Amino acid sequence: MKPFTYAALPAKVVFGFGTIGQLGAEIEALRCSKAMLLTTRQQAKSAVTLATQLGKLWKCSFAEAAMHTPVDVTESALAQARETGADCLVAIGGGSSIGLGKAIALRTGLPQIAVPTTYAGSEATPILGQTEGGRKTTQRTLEVLPETIIYDVDLSLTLPVGMSVTSGLNAIAHAVEALYARDANPIITSLAEEGIRSLTHALPVIVRNPQDANARSDALFGAYACGVCLGAVGMSLHHKLCHTLGGSFDLPHSETHAVILPHAIAYVAPAVPEAMARLSQLLGGGDPAVGFFEFARSLGSPTSLAEIGMSQSRLDEAADIACSFPYWSPRPVERQAILSLLENAFHGRRPSQS
Ligand code: NAD
Repeated sequence: MKPFTYAALPAKVVFGFGTIGQLGAEIEALRCSKAMLLTTRQQAKSAVTLATQLGKLWKCSFAEAAMHTPVDVTESALAQARETGADCLVAIGGGSSIGLGKAIALRTGLPQIAVPTTYAGSEATPILGQTEGGRKTTQRTLEVLPETIIYDVDLSLTLPVGMSVTSGLNAIAHAVEALYARDANPIITSLAEEGIRSLTHALPVIVRNPQDANARSDALFGAYACGVCLGAVGMSLHHKLCHTLGGSFDLPHSETHAVILPHAIAYVAPAVPEAMARLSQLLGGGDPAVGFFEFARSLGSPTSLAEIGMSQSRLDEAADIACSFPYWSPRPVERQAILSLLENAFHGRRPSQS
């Protein structure tokens, strides 16, 4: 075993079926009694149901969370939190709801309970991305890490199949990049492998039967494992490309991850043979870049940037942004090769090393 450093993140995880029933007890365990519920408009009904369930522990609800945590939305929610005297935050939903909880926690120090219903993994990370004036900035601080995560498999059953697939691939991308992170360590490598294994087994079953409780349970566990990877080690080229395409070109979050992943793998592959051997084994052999491309296609995921709203005329600009302030990458980030990668991804070509 090579020497390593690993800092575990403090969080309580409650995982199972029907675990939302434990929300009241978890609020009280944080010594709180005035919960503010946070979610998106699309999941506003869940907040109404939860408010009724919580009874006197419920203080107020805010159902305007939005993708990429816009600062103006945070400020409206913050005003409500202050006016009502809420003493804790309960975010229910995907990365958008959880991002809002983190943004309020950063400004108030209020404790958070995250109830994730997608596979994005934000609940397990000390990372917050926020947008203001069309610019997305990301910071890493323990102040935004939720104290408690309640995974309730039942709440994930309603996640539409298309979103389940792209969100699952988003999670897998965290684990893939953890395998070749500069600060990779054997604990996170084990979790990354387990996360990829769980999701690659579960997603095809979910596509066939979205109500399969065992597959949903495996996928949600995989999402947690992959989220821990994202929170624990540095991400690389794949995440930089997705942050560029989401932040500057407004492409949808999980779909962008799904399209880029095979191409980012192809790019770094020559520099990280050990990680590629692990991925190949997890996929049952072969080139992992092609393997993930075919896997995504078999699940009905989008495979081209063209079909998720990217304009071909802006690929050059995307390459420039991706190459400015690049994240650490095991293979040096070269503009011409990044442009080829983006062109391949734009057209949905099978990935190739260039
Ligand atoms: P999302 O939270 O925007 O959810 C997408 C849509 O699906 C929303 O309308 C939501 O209400 C709905 N939805 C969620 N769960 C559902 C369910 N079970 N049933 C029915 N509808 C459901 O999407 P996301 O991909 O989870 O999150 C994306 C956001 O999270 C981005 O802003 C991204 O930057 C952020 N993110 C942050 C981190 C981090 O560590 N900071 C990690 C991953 C993602």
